[in-house]
Amino acid sequence: MMLKQKFIMDHNPSTGEIIEKIKISSPGEVASCVKLARKASKSWFAVPLKNRIALLRKIEKDIFKTKDLIARTISVEMGKPLKHSIAEVETVLNTIDVNIKLSEEAFNTSIHKDKNLITEVQRIPMGVIAVITPWNYPVDIPISFIIPALLAGNCVVFKPSEFTPLSGKHIYEIFNRHFPKGVVNIIQGAEEVGDMILASDIDMIAFVGSRDTGKRIFAECAGRVIRMILELGGKDPMIVLKDADLKKAAEYAVFGALKNCGQICTSVERIYVEDKVAHQFEKLVYDEIRKVKIGDAFDKIDVGPLANEQQRGIVLRQIEEARRKGARILHGGNKVEGRGYFIEPALIVDVSEKHDLMTEETFGPIVAIQRVRNAEDAIEKANRTRFGLGATIWTKNLKKAKEIAAELEAGMIGINKGVSGVKGTPWVGIKESGFGYHGSIDGLKQFTHPKKVSYKN
Ligand code: ADP
Repeated sequence: MMLKQKFIMDHNPSTGEIIEKIKISSPGEVASCVKLARKASKSWFAVPLKNRIALLRKIEKDIFKTKDLIARTISVEMGKPLKHSIAEVETVLNTIDVNIKLSEEAFNTSIHKDKNLITEVQRIPMGVIAVITPWNYPVDIPISFIIPALLAGNCVVFKPSEFTPLSGKHIYEIFNRHFPKGVVNIIQGAEEVGDMILASDIDMIAFVGSRDTGKRIFAECAGRVIRMILELGGKDPMIVLKDADLKKAAEYAVFGALKNCGQICTSVERIYVEDKVAHQFEKLVYDEIRKVKIGDAFDKIDVGPLANEQQRGIVLRQIEEARRKGARILHGGNKVEGRGYFIEPALIVDVSEKHDLMTEETFGPIVAIQRVRNAEDAIEKANRTRFGLGATIWTKNLKKAKEIAAELEAGMIGINKGVSGVKGTPWVGIKESGFGYHGSIDGLKQFTHPKKVSYKN
């Protein structure tokens, strides 16, 4: 089989310039990587957990030492403001630590007894795990799969996004410095190479990306009964009730919709605000969004460019459709002419379900607001989506907020805050946002299967 393309042209989205030409893995290289991982998997599982942990502590140290270089690579490749790239690397260090601390409990053999029998339930690694990830958190997302996979005793075949091959290469090189040959492997390329990995001798796939690709992976895995973790994005609602602290809610609306240029699965994608306070809320959001500075990832800015030209095209089309179908654009929403893939952060009101902006994942710097009659109306509209990742509720009435949370079809809900929770709790979605967890004991266990051995008491 011949590849359609031999190289990835890695771009800097702040300038549009090519940073580097990266070789795409050939079919032969994909096959030998998977073979190498298979060969290494038996001996890696035989390494005691405490020794696996010791190696991962070395990775942690190495990442800490090279924090600035990794952060700069993220910023140059996907346009994230440098301070946010540094924060991404800090999150990674935390992820490693949390996973290590939970691993003993997650993988412990449990012993069960009754009058006649003793049963040991062991946690056995899956074998070879393909980790396929997107560009929006090009270090954090891969690490949040690779670490638990390795702790559990699996070997990994990692394919970074074709838009962030250098961030992927950095991660791989750090593992390669410390780990036995074949335990962590890298494959570079896009869809075509992803398909080759899926068709290869893997035992499980851990994937974060678009719903369409996720469905394709689901179908492929179904045929061979391969285990999966799929995280397929979201369309997170933010519900603002009339008794909310409107200033705080407005600040969060802008922050939550624009962080990482809106390219986060849990970005605020739809805002439902009660009629009575809608005008006041929109005005506060307007004041807030006007303060946002956009520009090159390495300048003192709040929001960088879209990560690639294709993504900018999708977002501009959604804005144009909203405009055509009667939504009001109170601020921004235009393409910034010149270098890089920029859009002016937009505040769009009077949107509804007739606009893609409120139904399709946007992944762009847009605050979209729809007015609702009351909380019930907001819940009904918030649930009218295929997705079920996060949601936030803004009100001073905690009891009411918890009642709304119980009605919302989402895996993670924040009350007067974003969706993140206490360290070690899962990152989780429902409905077509996929299944499987990041982090937590549940998350670690997914990289193993239970095996029981019983004998007479
Ligand atoms: P995003 O828009 O977030 O990049 P994609 O689903 O297109 O979402 O890409 C996520 C990851 O999935 C990337 O690493 C991409 O190369 C990979 N990918 C795309 N198509 C396939 C496929 N058919 N099989 C396996 N991986 C794929």
